[in-house]
Amino acid sequence: MNDNIKKVLRHPTQSEGLIFEKSSPGKRAFDLPPLDVPPVDAAKALGEFHRGGGVEGFPEVSEIEVLRHFTRLSTWNYAIDLGMYPLGSCTMKYNPRVNEFVARLAGLATEHPYQPQELSQGCLKILQLLEKCLLEITGMDAVTLQPAAGAQGELTGILLIRAHHEKLGNPRKTVLIPDSAHGTNPATAIIAGYQVQNIKSSDEGQIDIARLVEQVTGDVAALMLTNPSTLGIFEQRIAEIAKVLHAKGALLYMDGANMNALAGVTRPGDLGVDVMHLNLHKTFSTPHGGGGPGAGPVATKKILEPYLPVPVLVEKEGGRLVLDYHRKESIGRVRAFGGNFGVLVRALAYILAYGPGVRQATEDAVLNANYIRKHLEGVFDLPYTRPSMHEVVFSDALQKKHGVNTMDIAKRLIDYGFHPYTTAFPLIVPGALMIEPTESESKEECDLFIDAMKSIAREAEADPEVVKTAPHTTRVRRLDEVAAARKPVLRWKPGGKKSEAAD
Ligand SMILES: *Cc1c(COP(=O)(O)O)cnc(C)c1O
Repeated sequence: MNDNIKKVLRHPTQSEGLIFEKSSPGKRAFDLPPLDVPPVDAAKALGEFHRGGGVEGFPEVSEIEVLRHFTRLSTWNYAIDLGMYPLGSCTMKYNPRVNEFVARLAGLATEHPYQPQELSQGCLKILQLLEKCLLEITGMDAVTLQPAAGAQGELTGILLIRAHHEKLGNPRKTVLIPDSAHGTNPATAIIAGYQVQNIKSSDEGQIDIARLVEQVTGDVAALMLTNPSTLGIFEQRIAEIAKVLHAKGALLYMDGANMNALAGVTRPGDLGVDVMHLNLHKTFSTPHGGGGPGAGPVATKKILEPYLPVPVLVEKEGGRLVLDYHRKESIGRVRAFGGNFGVLVRALAYILAYGPGVRQATEDAVLNANYIRKHLEGVFDLPYTRPSMHEVVFSDALQKKHGVNTMDIAKRLIDYGFHPYTTAFPLIVPGALMIEPTESESKEECDLFIDAMKSIAREAEADPEVVKTAPHTTRVRRLDEVAAARKPVLRWKPGGKKSEAAD
């Protein structure tokens, strides 16, 4: 590591230890004036409510130490507020601050799901309005807001399909899934009790209809189609695909996690889709770096409505809203209460603020992805050449010749101040670089990203070692990506080991 970088890393903003290590006995963040009343023994006065003498080894620090500690730590995390987050398939767009304001309003943030429904009419109205907006955007007939994530939405959707086939006397055996699908799709089908049968994509990244006709037998319950696919390509013959399935009584499930490429432009319901999920935390702007919370509403056509999870929101006479728990054919509950309410509020705030402008957000997202694609074509290998939608997928084939792979390039991107793109996914592109800028980025920011990528491509040729050993400017280098999840260290013991400094 070069000496300048080493110096920077020694600065306390970059080498902050544990707050426990700063502790000195008796230090306080506050100082109270001398008592002007007789002292009282807290243990005696509070009786059973007295909580004893505090937490053993609790750090004793000053106010500025507390503030600096947490502020320093906050600067080690990359965030959309710092710069572009081109993590393909994740739609890491900016979440307007006003959504946060709305979600925190008293009367929304402080409501309790157990309060009587007569007192929750405002919150239920919000859910109803969001349902209406999502039906308009998707072109479907009914929706449940309950699933807490895209993957849970998928499971809910496939269980609806299963209930439909069971009603007809046979749940069927197989779910068809293209090789360009998200990994959660086959996992969902298996958990719902189906076998997965793979569909190979054509060289164009599309489904081969002639082959599909052969694969759709009376045993097929559904096809799970991600559209646009994880190659960032729109499945152009989706209406035909729906017809092929419907002719054999099978249904079309659309993974709608990539609706950032479609919202306001085209509606899956009009294309023959029977059931789909949305990722509100992707398309409809809830911050979701770090894993949550999210919401994966499921929208269906009329034929699947009877099976929706309970409770279902129903409007009674006089506009009174009630949660109906008594539906004979329902698949049951998929989540407590009505869903992740705060996420639902943000999504509605976002949709209402944009209105028909949702279409422009979509068009800008597609424009940004194609702008980046155009400037990096030739610099990086482009395995599928159909027009890109909201994301573009390159491969590391050109850099591999110099021993540099997609992971190396992604790590080097950190040195240039960007969050890495998605690496090694989708699986059908060996060494994939999956880039999704979203509509949040200006032309200037996209240009900076393009320059960084070009510069890394030049380095890969001229000085591959610098790329292969990146990142160089961060506090820690290449980490064991699994150990943090498998062997987390969550507690510090007094007298425990000092936190480790950067290497
Ligand atoms: C993100 C994503 C999912 C899974 O959504 P989660 O909310 O992470 O469970 C499913 N399919 C596609 C195409 C996705 O991009």
